[in-house]
Amino acid sequence: MSEVFNLTEEFGKNVFNDAVMRDRLPKSVYKKLKKTIADGAELDPSIADVVAHAMKDWAIEHGATHYTHWFQPLTGVTAEKHDSFISAPSDGKVIMEFSGKELIKGEPDASSFPSGGLRATFEARGYTVWDCTSPAFLREDAIGVTLCIPTSFCSYTGESLDKKTPLLRSMQAINEQALRILRLFGNTTAKRVSPSVGPEQEYFLVDRRKYLQRKDLIYTGRTLFGAMPPKGQEMEDHYFGAIRERVGSYMNDVNKELWKLGVPAKTQHNEVAPAQHELAPIYEGVNQAVDHNQIVMETLKKVAERHGMACLLHEKPFEKVNGSGKHNNWSLTADDGTNMMNPGDTPHENIQFLLVLACIIKAVDVHADLLRESAADVGNDHRLGANEAPPAIISIFLGEQLEDVIEQLCDTGEATHSKTGGTLKTGVDILPDLDKDATDRNRTSPFAFTGNKFEFRMVGSSDSIASPNTVLNTIVAEAFKEAADLLEKADDFDMAVHNLIKEMLTAHKRVVFNGNGYSDEWVQEAERRGLPNIRSMVEAIPALTTDKAVRLFEEFGVFTRAELNSRAEVEYENYAKAINIEARTMIDMAGKQIIPAVIKYTTQLAASIAAVRGACPEADVSTQTSLLLETSGLLAETKSALAALEEKTAQAAGTEGGRIQAEAYHAYVVPAMEALRTPVDKLEMIVDKDLWPMPSYGDLIFEV
Ligand code: ADP
Ligand code: MG
Repeated sequence: MSEVFNLTEEFGKNVFNDAVMRDRLPKSVYKKLKKTIADGAELDPSIADVVAHAMKDWAIEHGATHYTHWFQPLTGVTAEKHDSFISAPSDGKVIMEFSGKELIKGEPDASSFPSGGLRATFEARGYTVWDCTSPAFLREDAIGVTLCIPTSFCSYTGESLDKKTPLLRSMQAINEQALRILRLFGNTTAKRVSPSVGPEQEYFLVDRRKYLQRKDLIYTGRTLFGAMPPKGQEMEDHYFGAIRERVGSYMNDVNKELWKLGVPAKTQHNEVAPAQHELAPIYEGVNQAVDHNQIVMETLKKVAERHGMACLLHEKPFEKVNGSGKHNNWSLTADDGTNMMNPGDTPHENIQFLLVLACIIKAVDVHADLLRESAADVGNDHRLGANEAPPAIISIFLGEQLEDVIEQLCDTGEATHSKTGGTLKTGVDILPDLDKDATDRNRTSPFAFTGNKFEFRMVGSSDSIASPNTVLNTIVAEAFKEAADLLEKADDFDMAVHNLIKEMLTAHKRVVFNGNGYSDEWVQEAERRGLPNIRSMVEAIPALTTDKAVRLFEEFGVFTRAELNSRAEVEYENYAKAINIEARTMIDMAGKQIIPAVIKYTTQLAASIAAVRGACPEADVSTQTSLLLETSGLLAETKSALAALEEKTAQAAGTEGGRIQAEAYHAYVVPAMEALRTPVDKLEMIVDKDLWPMPSYGDLIFEV
């Protein structure tokens, strides 16, 4: 029998959380640290040593030998450098040491992380700086137990080199502006507004032995070749029956690991595609949610290995099978419990809600390009704008009733406007029904209102959620600021707020769309409305460095122009590198595995024809002959597509870096990869399964 897992006892066991701090820190130190965390103030260096000492003792009691500054460079995954606690031995003995200085600041070699040119213009040094708002935690794995300290990563001159720093800056911006909105409506108690985020994480599981037989999965995280089995989706029934046990035991372990790390893993279920699953935690403050999502991704992969499986976080591991994304549920919560996305049920609060809603609609419309960019990653190119969920066009789904309220507000002329209360009431009376009706019915919208939060569904499954939330926080902060600037000066507040809501909605309601986001009609309709349709990552990146973006991010201190340029540069580099690896993997697989296998098959066919003819000249060998002809034709096509891909890849690799190179990979290498895949996938359907050099889609997704 397995041991009983006591969830309440185990939850957060590996976290240096509030309870542990209260327990182990002197009261005065605890109070100072709490204040630092709550107010987002600077840490008093005098308490750092005490905190470090307590943290070290706690970690060592739990078996830790090492600590690491855990940070999120622009590679999108986390990085760390492990140091052991031991000091220089004296008398042959070591003592375990960890100072405040080591807790607060680290100095990894910045030159080994992407900086997009910031290094060339500034210093090579990089620092990791303790983010005391995200608790330290212990990681247990084959290396042993390691104390992980969440940190920001900055250059010598303070430029951010990571995903956390701008996120923290954007939290300051939205806090300040959201408080102004709350004050306008008479809220004097709230001291802090923070974004709450619950990211739903999709992933695939495949058998590890089969995974290891596919170079494409190993090197790129997705299959670069592979034909759908003739009975693709219908086989889902089999799938449910066959894998439940193995996947269930995996999920069970994942949950236990996550709970120990204080990650509130809540729901899990099978997804639409075979072998696809989803895990959703309970929402938390955005900084914590971002860190926890990184931990979730790491844990999903690590535990899969233990269970003889591989977890694929790629956005599109299998062609013609649903891809994976991440639904980023986002709302704004004040420390007095107010959820600013809650429609509420008194007209007074509803006006506040309508203002918030109008601001969000405006922000999303004005900065659709930035939101789209924030969800761009190499794998997501296979989803966004590629006939899959969600479309690449940013639009907002509000649900019928809320849209109706907006229509009414926009339609009331000046006359109704004088009867502000009356008109608003008409609209507002409908609101209490909202919770019930405006639920998640439209699954095709990239940005949907779902009762008391917005759900941004474009984010890729393997991507960090830091960038989308940084953008969301900042663009909404801007809309709040513009509203507050105006309303704080208004003589007649009620009139002014009503006018402003109407004005914003009228100007920006083009971004609201309740219909089917997958339809061709929507693509045309969106074009008529003037909404951008940005189909690829390479086309999305320029949004980062427009004058509009620079103005926005500089105004709120989230990014400088130099930081934005560097980020765009890093993204171009990441794109070019990823496609280069994919292309080279295809070349390798086609040349060394697939073509030799097909030649073997044609040789067998030819031998069979000769043998049959020799044994019985009158026998009909037309089947073998036509197979041989077809296979040889496809083989020739494969060979020439391979040569073309080699040529295009070499050309792209030879261009100067940055945008030009990324564009070359996108424009020439990606189509050449598709051209190679087509004949190979046809061959896979013909060639004897025993000869095919790797597990098929059927083997991978139906036999986990
Ligand atoms: P849905 O069915 O609309 O997807 P769920 O209730 O399943 O909604 O929640 C999905 C995710 O949204 C979960 O991670 C949940 O914790 C999170 N969530 C719920 N309420 C909020 C909120 N107010 N703000 C942010 N995230 C939220
Ligand atoms: Mg959802």
